[in-house]
Amino acid sequence: MNVRSVRLLPFDVAPVAERVIRGARFSVRQTGSFTLYTEEPLTYMTQRRRLDAYLAERAIEAGVTLREGSPVRQVERHRSHITVRTGGGEAFEGRTLVAADGVNGTTAKLAGIDVKQWMVVGLEGNACPTGSFPSEWEDVLGLDGEAVPGYYGWIFPKGDHLNIGVAGWQRYAPSLRARLNRLSRYYGFDAEALEGLRGHRLPMRKPDSPLVDGNVLLVGDAAGLLDPLTGEGIYAAIYSGGVAARHLGAYVDGKARDLQGYVRELEQELLPELRISSRLYDLLYFSPATTIRVLRHVPGVFPILCDIVRGDRTYANMPRRLGPLFTGIELAADAIRRTPRYRHLVDEHDPPRPERFLRPKAALRPVSGSRIAAGS
Ligand SMILES: Cc1cc2nc3c(=O)[nH]c(=O)nc-3n(C[C@H](O)[C@H](O)[C@H](O)COP(=O)(O)OP(=O)(O)OC[C@H]3O[C@@H](n4cnc5c(N)ncnc54)[C@H](O)[C@@H]3O)c2cc1C
Repeated sequence: MNVRSVRLLPFDVAPVAERVIRGARFSVRQTGSFTLYTEEPLTYMTQRRRLDAYLAERAIEAGVTLREGSPVRQVERHRSHITVRTGGGEAFEGRTLVAADGVNGTTAKLAGIDVKQWMVVGLEGNACPTGSFPSEWEDVLGLDGEAVPGYYGWIFPKGDHLNIGVAGWQRYAPSLRARLNRLSRYYGFDAEALEGLRGHRLPMRKPDSPLVDGNVLLVGDAAGLLDPLTGEGIYAAIYSGGVAARHLGAYVDGKARDLQGYVRELEQELLPELRISSRLYDLLYFSPATTIRVLRHVPGVFPILCDIVRGDRTYANMPRRLGPLFTGIELAADAIRRTPRYRHLVDEHDPPRPERFLRPKAALRPVSGSRIAAGS
């Protein structure tokens, strides 16, 4: 959980934080590594099963009823209400429904909503050191550019083990295992001994994908709100959940006529962030070697990245701060999106559209960090 997402929560995550990260070791295709440090904490390492259980406990304390092992199987939409039927044979009725079931969720689809996303695929597993924990990874994570084309490889140190993974464009899915093995060996761990291998998809929202459909609302990965550049989605899941809660409250209390306020608020606050992140994604993953070189040799780039991860700075501030340089970044990203090579690599049949020409200019206005915090 990066510092930015932790700041959104009204309680401390220390009970489930296994490590505090203050540095990153960068490499490209397992060569030329270097490490950059920052004084303030950057991100907290936890394990999803621990974090999710902890969040569920806090929700129950706040009055939520949790039904485990009750997957949504059927959604019936009526004029005045929605009925949801679960695998456990129960039926629930409500005026609104929130699809919060992640990248593999089916709720939106069952409600007849056409969610438009493109996917990055990943594979990860755990290396469990037999002796003491390797000191080089005490408070540093590792990122390897182009471990798979289209994304990166990583090593994330947890309490007593290290999580190693790779992700990239879908067409590279068949080679993920071989690439994970290679990365694992590079970091000094026996690839064959990796435990708990799991495959994943990471959803990237297309610009015209719905966030609300009548009285059904989509949040987090179900809405594809992942940060394309970093692959982090916990911040957007918490943020969109908080915004959704406010607008649902107003709707149910009769203070709002519909749920469109949710869309308007995301359009103002979060979506401009994701759009700029998506521009940077095009640019940086087209040539990871150049990106890593810039990180290494241009002072000030790493601190900017750290500020974004911590929430002290937003992507949306970039157009104003960088001025004409940002226009150059946009033009380069547009050009990259139009190259046959990129279209071929991302997804031959359905490449992401050049958003620059599709979105209203107003959506790009800068947003201050404090406004984001106020929105939470
Ligand atoms: C390998 C990997 C590493 C990542 N690392 C990071 C990271 O370090 N930092 C970060 O910020 N993000 C990270 N992400 C992204 C992050 O995991 C997601 O963006 C985030 O979890 C989205 O939260 P969510 O609540 O929308 O969905 P989820 O966390 O996926 O939660 C969805 C929930 O819905 C439940 N569900 C699914 N289907 C149904 C159904 N039919 N009925 C009822 N319930 C259902 C699921 O069981 C689950 O509990 C990573 C993703 C991957 C794949």
